[in-house]
Amino acid sequence: MDTQSPVSNFIRAIVAEDMKTGKFGGRLMTRFPPEPNGYLHIGHAKSICLNFGLAEEFGGLCNFRFDDTNPSKEEVEYVESIQADVRWLGFDWENRLYYASDYFGKLYGFAAQLIKDGKAYVCDLSAEQIREYRGTLTAPGRESPYRNRSVEENLNLFEQMKAGEFEDGSRVLRAKIDMASGNINMRDPVMYRIKKESHHRTGDAWCIYPMYDYAHGISDSIEGITHSVCTLEYEDHRPLYDWFLDELKIYHPQQIEFARLNLSNTVVSKRKLLKLVNEKYVSGWDDPRMPTLAGIRRRGYTPEAIRNFCERIGVGKKESIVDMALLEYCIREDLNKTARRVMAVLRPLRVIIDNYPAERVEYLDAVNNPEDPSSGTRKIPFSRVLYLERDDFMENPPKQFFRLAPGREVRLRYAYFITCTNVVRDARTDEITELHCTYDPATKGGDAPDKRKVKATLHWVSASHALESEIRLYDALFIKENPNDVEEDRDFTDYLNPESLEVLKSCKVEPGLKDALPGSRYQFERIGYFCADAVDSSPERPVFNRIVTLKDEWAKIQKNRAIGDRL
Ligand code: ATP
Ligand code: MG
Repeated sequence: MDTQSPVSNFIRAIVAEDMKTGKFGGRLMTRFPPEPNGYLHIGHAKSICLNFGLAEEFGGLCNFRFDDTNPSKEEVEYVESIQADVRWLGFDWENRLYYASDYFGKLYGFAAQLIKDGKAYVCDLSAEQIREYRGTLTAPGRESPYRNRSVEENLNLFEQMKAGEFEDGSRVLRAKIDMASGNINMRDPVMYRIKKESHHRTGDAWCIYPMYDYAHGISDSIEGITHSVCTLEYEDHRPLYDWFLDELKIYHPQQIEFARLNLSNTVVSKRKLLKLVNEKYVSGWDDPRMPTLAGIRRRGYTPEAIRNFCERIGVGKKESIVDMALLEYCIREDLNKTARRVMAVLRPLRVIIDNYPAERVEYLDAVNNPEDPSSGTRKIPFSRVLYLERDDFMENPPKQFFRLAPGREVRLRYAYFITCTNVVRDARTDEITELHCTYDPATKGGDAPDKRKVKATLHWVSASHALESEIRLYDALFIKENPNDVEEDRDFTDYLNPESLEVLKSCKVEPGLKDALPGSRYQFERIGYFCADAVDSSPERPVFNRIVTLKDEWAKIQKNRAIGDRL
C-alpha cells in the first residue's frame, strides 16, 4: 500500500521544459477525454485535475472531449452526468466541448488516405480468426489472406462497408503494419468495424465506427493537443498512436502516460461500478458508498477536498493503491475549518434531570465553529428531559470508561454537570429505558465554581425540542483492500462489505437543523461529519449521511510509518 507524502509531478516537469524550449511554439493544450459509458469516478478526478490543472498553471487550455466511438455502450445520461461532475469539481472548458463523433467524417477521410497509401486494407476474417492470426506474446502472427488486396478493391469495399452493404462483423478495416511485431498492438490492428447501431449524436448516419486507438490520436491532432496525457495501460499503444499520425503526416501531439489511481477497499472501473448498479448491490450511481463523483458528492465530500486529495497523491509512473484514509483526511481537514458544529444523538437514551423544574426551558450559548470565530454562537434549548448517547453510559464501567455511570458526575456540553442517580429497566426485556440524574445549578456553562473536575463532556439534546431524523452511517464498500485481486472461482462482488450501510431511524438532532439545506454539512460533535442528503432530506424529516468519522486513521498510518522507518 502506498501511503507516501506527495511525489513530485514528472508531467509538470515535462510541460515546464517544453514551455521553456518552445517545443510546441510555447503553446499548451491538454484535454480530458471520457468515454460516455458510465459515471465518472475518483480516478477520473485525478485525470481531470491533472489536465485542467496543467492548463491553468501554465496559461494553456484544456479541452473537454467525449470519446464517443462505441454506440453500443454510450448514453446521453452519461454525457450529462460527466459534464455536471467536471463542473462540480470546479473546472471550466468554456466553449471547448468536443465529441470524437464530430470527427467521423474526417476520420473516414484519413482512413481512405491510408488505403490509398497502401497502409490499410479491408479484411474478411471473422473476429475469432483475427484473434487466431494475431499470434501470442511469444509467437509472431500470420498475415491475413486479404492483406494484399489492391488499393482500388480496398477503397470500393470500404465504401460499401460505409454504405451498409455488409453485415455486422463480416468485414473490418485494418492498418497494414507488421504481423511479426513484438508489440501485439502493431499486428495490423482494426481501425473500423461495422455496427448497425444508432449513435447518441450521429443517429443512423454511420454504420461503421472507428476503433478507439485510431480515433483518439487523430482527434488529439485535430484539436492541436500538445500533451496527450493518459494512463499507463496505453503505453503499449503509443507506437500505434505515433504510427497513425506519422503515416498521415499530420500534426503530432506527444502522448505521456501516468499511473492510474487505485483506492483501497473500493473499485475504480466503470465496468465493475456498472455491475454494482445493474445488479442492485448499491442504490444507483450516486449511492453515497460509490467512488463515483456523484456518490462522493452525495455523501458530502467537497470539491476542494477532492482537488486537494488529487494534488497530494501526486502523479507517478508506478501503480499503487492509495489508502482511503488519505481521502478521509482531506475532507476532515476541509470540514474542520468550515463545518458548523451541532449536537445530534444517534442512539438516544432518555435522561431525566429530577431536580430541574418541569416547565423550565433555558437557551444556552453554543459555539458554531471554534476554528472560525466569525461563525458566532447559537442558542440551544435545555430542559428537564434530555437524550444522551446510549454508548455514553455504562452501568458497570471498566477502568478506562470515563463517561456516565451510576453515581458519577460528567459535564453536558455548554450546559451543566449532572450525576447519575438511578437506572430504570424494562421489566420484561431488562433493557435500560431511562436514567435519572441530578444537576448542579452552579455549573451552568460547564465549569464548577469549586474547580472540581469531571473526566467527560457529553453531547445531548433536549427531548421535547429535538428533531427526529434518519442518519445513514456509511463504511467501506469492500472488506478487501484490493477487491480486484479475485481468488479462483470468486467474483469481486464476493468481497462487498455487508456492513457498509447502517440506517438509524430515530436519531435526535438539535432543533436548528430543521433549516438544514440539502447538501449542507455539519460536524455532529464527538461523532463525525454529516451531510443533509440531497435526495431524501426534508425539513419535516431530515436525513443525514455520515461523510466521515472524527477518527484520523491517516495520522495513525503516518505515525506507524515513521516508527517503522526508525526501526
Ligand atoms: P475505466 O477503466 O473506469 O472504464 P476508462 O479509462 O475506460 O476508465 P475513460 O472514460 O476512457 O475511462 O477515461 C477518461 C480519462 O480518465 C482517460 O484519460 C483515462 O486515462 C483517465 N482515467 C480513467 N481511470 C483513471 C484512474 N483510475 N486514474 C487516473 N486516470 C484515470
Ligand atoms: Mg477508456
